[in-house]
Amino acid sequence: MNNIRIILAGPRGKMGQEALKMIVETPHFDLVAAVDSKNDGLQVKDLSGAPQSMEAPVYDDMENCLAAVKADVVVDLTRPDIGKKHLELALNHGLRTVIGTTGFSNEDLERLTALAEEKQTGAIIAPNFAIGAILMMKFSQMAAKYLPDIEIIEKHHDQKLDAPSGTALKTAQLITEVRDEKKQGHPDEKEDLKGARGAELEGIRIHSVRLPGLVAHQEVIFGGEGQVLTIRHDSMNRASFMPGVRLAVESVMNIEGLVYGLENIME
Ligand code: NAP
Repeated sequence: MNNIRIILAGPRGKMGQEALKMIVETPHFDLVAAVDSKNDGLQVKDLSGAPQSMEAPVYDDMENCLAAVKADVVVDLTRPDIGKKHLELALNHGLRTVIGTTGFSNEDLERLTALAEEKQTGAIIAPNFAIGAILMMKFSQMAAKYLPDIEIIEKHHDQKLDAPSGTALKTAQLITEVRDEKKQGHPDEKEDLKGARGAELEGIRIHSVRLPGLVAHQEVIFGGEGQVLTIRHDSMNRASFMPGVRLAVESVMNIEGLVYGLENIME
């Protein structure tokens, strides 16, 4: 089998730097180019924090890169608006794509699904690459059938722009597939301070904590008669996401159409 040729967008970012290390450590992956917001014309090894063995050109524009470089997969670890743009460009070039950014609306997903089908290529959008977090979501869906009173507490670093996190929202959405809408807490409860009971999705309460020092953490708490079950996942650093990025790159080589969520490619 030939090595998988990768274009990485966002190589100087915190996720991008981890991805460069992961690519170097994966014998069947080759980095063939990187797309950075600057540094056009440099080599990847010239970027700060990049492995010195990486002899691949840097482009500051995805279109120029796709026109010049032969690749199998584009991996995007940039920003939500840029990830969306890069996915569309890559699909239009018939290139397989793995996207780690969030912020895709249902309309975006419908449009991009149609594009992937038209171009007969594959794409994976993974709002969470941490395999443990995917298992947390699956276990939570399982538990919700038996313990339908649920509160989610997600905690992230204070540079995160969106709240609740995509993972918390996805967890709640997965739970709503197996649990009827339910009003939780006392029927007459009221908030003396607005927001004290958190956000709500079909009765499930979601609380978002933002503090420096945190990375990405979530607890799903289930209450029942005389018992409490807590399912918790912690990402301690961005290396925790790399097995999921590797799995997505390998899997996208064998799929057609758009897959949203790593849980859909995990057995
Ligand atoms: P980061 O450190 O801010 O890195 C983002 C990088 O993207 C920066 O180097 C930035 O360069 C670059 N960039 C911006 N616009 C670009 C463009 N047009 N072309 C190429 N590169 C561009 O953020 P991070 O923590 O690594 O996270 C990166 C993304 O992954 C975020 O969207 C984050 O939400 C997401 N994320 C996903 C997961 C997951 O499991 N799916 C986990 C963690 C993070 P400049 O600094 O020059 O703008």
